[in-house]
Amino acid sequence: MGWELLMSYGDLVRPTWLCRQPQRVQTVFRKSHAAGHNTVVSKARGGEEEGFAEAKADWRRSALTAGGQAQAALWASAERVREQIFGQRIFVRGVIEVANFCRQNCSYCGMRRENDALRRFRLAREVIRRVIDESLPPSVTDLNFQAGEDPVALRELVLPVIEEIAKEKRLGISVCLGTVDHRLYDELQQAGARGYIIKLETGDPEQYRLLQCPGRLERRLEAIRYLVRTGWCVSSGFIYGLPNQTLDQVIGTLDLLRSLSLCGCSVSPFIPGEGTPLSSEKRADLDQTLNAVAVLRLSSPRWVVPAVSALNLCDSSGYVRALRAGANLATINLTPGEWRGDYQLYRRKRWIMTEERVLQAIEQAGCQPSPQSWIAASSSFPPSADPI
Ligand code: SF4
Repeated sequence: MGWELLMSYGDLVRPTWLCRQPQRVQTVFRKSHAAGHNTVVSKARGGEEEGFAEAKADWRRSALTAGGQAQAALWASAERVREQIFGQRIFVRGVIEVANFCRQNCSYCGMRRENDALRRFRLAREVIRRVIDESLPPSVTDLNFQAGEDPVALRELVLPVIEEIAKEKRLGISVCLGTVDHRLYDELQQAGARGYIIKLETGDPEQYRLLQCPGRLERRLEAIRYLVRTGWCVSSGFIYGLPNQTLDQVIGTLDLLRSLSLCGCSVSPFIPGEGTPLSSEKRADLDQTLNAVAVLRLSSPRWVVPAVSALNLCDSSGYVRALRAGANLATINLTPGEWRGDYQLYRRKRWIMTEERVLQAIEQAGCQPSPQSWIAASSSFPPSADPI
């Protein structure tokens, strides 16, 4: 938790309601204030260090489960912290879902390889180019190419298109293409991509294995560390409300994510996906997912935190409320209508964030579209800028 930052924002968050041990937290606060940024934990000793970790986890436990007035205060704090760092600007990116083949088999995803009912597609390069050349809304500063884990789509579609547009357009370019060989990450970077979106979904090794998340957790982490080391702006993410997920697992995931020098992180509500082994499970609670959005913002004020369209599958106000709870990136779906339904992360009937819906949501949240690329903005923050 960015305790010192919270202190410097005055009464944004009141430990008396956020933590069951306010005295202990105040002690740690005083200690951390004297120690200076980035040295707080290392300077704490013995019981104090233990107390600090405990207080930190306690704060998040209370925040993640907050309701009523405490919840309203939490979201308002997160919104104010976002404004302090980014103003009232929301980054706007466009996403093109270029292929839905996937060699992975995640239990929560409709695009898993064992879902035989799904019609698979790879867009033609000309189709992708047409979207970029003819349908790019003026508010879009970044373009994200997304696919299942499909090295063929990566090599034959995404790489050549990025090579072309990086020379022609002034756009931040990101990809979300899964865990692949380091060589392919390097080739994408040489082509002009700068942002890599690679979600963990859960940082708990046993839950990761049970949910058949991509490959092994260790390999996913190794990929993230490689990307960070080689200069990518990396954004990750996790799912809130997974079946049997405990608060300790969420807190452990948050700790892990914070250790990875990321530029950003998302939280998606668990939605039981059609054609998946989890199709009859209960979907995530929207308010608690929004609490997690606020915790991300307060824990890592400089992260780019996307509002995800799945929030609107919980409730039509979900997207706007995420922007009011500290999120600062909105995504316009540019995938041609003919293929959108087959990009089935959850269900065929998707909630598509069109340009109109995104701009309306930004306005309803009292904000404006940012003229700056999220990748450029993130790159201007040193990775260790957060206090703890
Ligand atoms: S979540 Fe990603 S990697 Fe997993 S099955 Fe779906 S598309 Fe494939």
